[in-house]
Amino acid sequence: MSSSFHPTPRTLMGPGPSDVHPRVLGAMAKATIGHLDPEFIALMEDIKDLLRYSFRTENKLTLPLSAPGSAAMEASFANLVEAGDKVIVCINGVFGMRMAENVRRMNGELITVENEWGTQVDPEKVEAALKANPDAKVLAFVHAETSTGVRSDAKTLCALAQEYGCLSIVDSVTGLAGIELEVDAWNADVTYSGTQKCLSAPPGISLITFSDKAAAQVKARNTPVQSWFLDLSLLMAYWEGDGARTYHHTAPVNAMYGLHEALLMVQEEGLENSWNRHRAMHEVLVENLNSIGLEFVVDASYRLPQLNLVKIPEGVDEAAVRKRLLSEFNLEIGAGLGAFAGKVWRIGLMGYSARQENIQLCTSALKHCMR
Ligand SMILES: *Cc1c(COP(=O)(O)O)cnc(C)c1O
Repeated sequence: MSSSFHPTPRTLMGPGPSDVHPRVLGAMAKATIGHLDPEFIALMEDIKDLLRYSFRTENKLTLPLSAPGSAAMEASFANLVEAGDKVIVCINGVFGMRMAENVRRMNGELITVENEWGTQVDPEKVEAALKANPDAKVLAFVHAETSTGVRSDAKTLCALAQEYGCLSIVDSVTGLAGIELEVDAWNADVTYSGTQKCLSAPPGISLITFSDKAAAQVKARNTPVQSWFLDLSLLMAYWEGDGARTYHHTAPVNAMYGLHEALLMVQEEGLENSWNRHRAMHEVLVENLNSIGLEFVVDASYRLPQLNLVKIPEGVDEAAVRKRLLSEFNLEIGAGLGAFAGKVWRIGLMGYSARQENIQLCTSALKHCMR
């Protein structure tokens, strides 16, 4: 006989999902209404405005997608890339590799710029690739590499894309609300993010914004977008269409309530305050973990405050420690990925997780479980 599911409340300090604020969970428990109900349509408008606030953009094409961050990545490539188009993808971790795989599957001509894991995307290498490939159409990179805890210089990379006549695709799934992101000031063309990192809403939705230039490129395609579900022009008829919205899919109504509340909380706090809080909590984490003998992996000048790679000390069984943190302290932290598998823990300080009580718990629990 099955019974209702009652998850044990956990403290989420891994690479996502992050802790969800009770206000967001409360919003999601409100009555479900129709996805074309005038009240829901008003909510959709408000969500788009709040997204523009968080992305720092006036882009008209700014909307949530009813699917997780990976779908926003796929939507970026599906809409901008046609078969045979040359695309430069910067790789310094797992998510850059996934971008490259998207280009392959869309039959684009893939050029990769490889960077060592744990380091930034090197603008000099990118410029060399742009010079060597004057016919490249798109430059894609990850702003905040969650697999390595590295921030790349999105401002410089977007400027290079513009200088060499490329459109930029910026993955800021982990960046948004955690570190500075200025879509308009940096002239980023397609930028996407997710709900479950620094926005602290549950996973399942993503956010995407297209510059006018990128939108024009989508309109000028010779072939239809190969994904029906992620075709931006069809999606916009649903998310725009003043008074005449056409049914495309049924939006996850209650998940949108949660997204709205999470975005509202970012606006209430103020975007800069949110960036500063992540930075300040990161500094507290550094002080705490250093005091129990743990070291950070990534150079402080380009380290993500919201995702911290910590070296596993000699003789410590990393998986056993994570297991004990979960079973004895209800605390989740992340394992290393790819080149860092077995060598690091990934400790997230994202959104509502970036607060003192979490850091104190993490420090004392780690100390206890490493003994
Ligand atoms: C989490 C993440 C994604 C994928 O988001 P999902 O919601 O897990 O599909 C993409 N890019 C980066 C950098 C991420 O951290």
